[in-house]
Amino acid sequence: MPKLRSISEKTWSKVSLTTLLTGLASLSVLLTSTILLTASYQSKKQSLMDTTLSLNLSNANKMSHTVDSLFISMRNSLKYSASLFMAIDDMGEDEIDRKLELMRNSSNYFNSIILVNEKGLVSNVSPQAVGTKGKFISGKAALEALAAKESYVSEPYTTSSTGRLIVFMSEPLFDKHGVYRGVIGGTIYLQQNNVLHMIFGDTARDDDGSYFYMVGSDGHLLYHPDQERLGEDVTANKVVQKLIQGRSGQEQVVNTKGVRLLAGYSTVPANGWGVVVVSPFSVMYEQLIRHIMTMLLYTLLPFAVLMVAVVLLARGLAKPFVSLADLVSHIGTDKFELPERKQHWNREADLLTEAISLALTDLKRQTDQLTLDAITDPLTGLLNRRTFESIMHEWTQEGTPFSIIVLDIDRFKAINDTYGHQAGDEVLKYIADTVSSSVRLQDVCCRYGGEEFVLLLHLCSAQEAHMVAEGIRASLMKSTSPVSKPITVSLGIAQYPLHSPSPDELFRLADQALYKAKETGRNRAVIADTVVAQRKL
Ligand code: GH3
Ligand code: MG
Ligand code: MG
Repeated sequence: MPKLRSISEKTWSKVSLTTLLTGLASLSVLLTSTILLTASYQSKKQSLMDTTLSLNLSNANKMSHTVDSLFISMRNSLKYSASLFMAIDDMGEDEIDRKLELMRNSSNYFNSIILVNEKGLVSNVSPQAVGTKGKFISGKAALEALAAKESYVSEPYTTSSTGRLIVFMSEPLFDKHGVYRGVIGGTIYLQQNNVLHMIFGDTARDDDGSYFYMVGSDGHLLYHPDQERLGEDVTANKVVQKLIQGRSGQEQVVNTKGVRLLAGYSTVPANGWGVVVVSPFSVMYEQLIRHIMTMLLYTLLPFAVLMVAVVLLARGLAKPFVSLADLVSHIGTDKFELPERKQHWNREADLLTEAISLALTDLKRQTDQLTLDAITDPLTGLLNRRTFESIMHEWTQEGTPFSIIVLDIDRFKAINDTYGHQAGDEVLKYIADTVSSSVRLQDVCCRYGGEEFVLLLHLCSAQEAHMVAEGIRASLMKSTSPVSKPITVSLGIAQYPLHSPSPDELFRLADQALYKAKETGRNRAVIADTVVAQRKL
């Protein structure tokens, strides 16, 4: 069947139901996962950002509060010391030095403490090693402090004498008569171990990369994990600008090195300093990636289970269609056999199987009927002339010996004329029944046409065929016909290959013998003349 084969060849290039369903399921899982992951990524990112920002702000607030309290304590400490020196005129040099030393060691607020008189002369220093005792102050901050005659705190600056980066704070000194006698000042060495380090620790950087820094009121770095940057002007930083304006808050920023950061910032009310706590975006992204990976892991297992289920389901779905296609492709071939009807769990497949089964059953019934119609005679049910000819040819080709009997009803026209055509038909059926019941299963009975019948007797000689012919005649004689009067027949017999190896010639000889039977009085069986037949050969 070239047509069917080309159809099945074409189907290889088509998408199978299993591939289609698996593909669809994969696509939907992929899309759902993508949407889910994207949504989760976005919301997690937002929540992480919010959490980090508010955490940084809260830390900045706590730290600024701490610095505020610290600064107030430092100022109070200086004020208290200033009050101690009200009677400075009554105090000896050693006593003053001792007091300064005690002050410095008891609180550890300052790296050094100096006493400057109203003329700008450094009268006392703790520790002595600073080496400025007996010198006039020349630094801008000290001069400003002296001139201010009130609480003073400097911006970070580098001293010309020691080259240290420091912050200087001072309180004015008045004697018991209220006369201004200079200042008592404390310094914080920003690059060395100082009070800020004591409170916040040496490392300003967390394991996760977050860190904090502190700026003075004019935007110079006072405290930073990178010591090198202390004193640096960072006013370009957006957050620092806000701190200078005295604002606190949280926001995303890009630092001077172009790194994106999440910052919380808070001002210190007491001195206008500012604390900034920052976390790099990369920290948040690492957490995000971990979150997405966990989500992926959780979706992977159900996805695998779903895929197995889909493949099994798709195979189950495709199976009845494949069987039906296979069945239909065998229609008309020898392999075609209608299988037992099986129920299917899928409604459409079940309906289709049922519809095709019914159609094929009907088709088979019709085909069988057509096949039967094509080989039989409708009136008598015997094989027709075409079938007879093909069987005779087949037997002669195989060389199977047989005999042929040609039978003709005597004076049938008269029966028709006397009893009518319908009665004539009944007679034909009656003859057909008699003939078929007189032969064996392997023999062949045909209605050749009109009121003529032909019998092919398998592996039978002409003599044996003659006996069969006589048997037919005898049973007709003794049975009652549909027209109640005995029906007689004449028969001509020939044997293959004795009379002729050619089927046409054999038939002609048998017909000749029949003619002879008619001629010689009817109701008799005549075997073809062997001599005539041989001569003809
Ligand atoms: P003979 O003994 O010489 O054979 O005489 P006969 O009358 O039988 O022969 P004839 O050939 O003259 O007539 C055959 C008749 O068979 C003519 C036809 O009407 C009748 N016949 C042929 N086919 C059918 C059929 O199918 N049904 C009926 N009822 N009659 C048929
Ligand atoms: Mg006839
Ligand atoms: Mg006749």
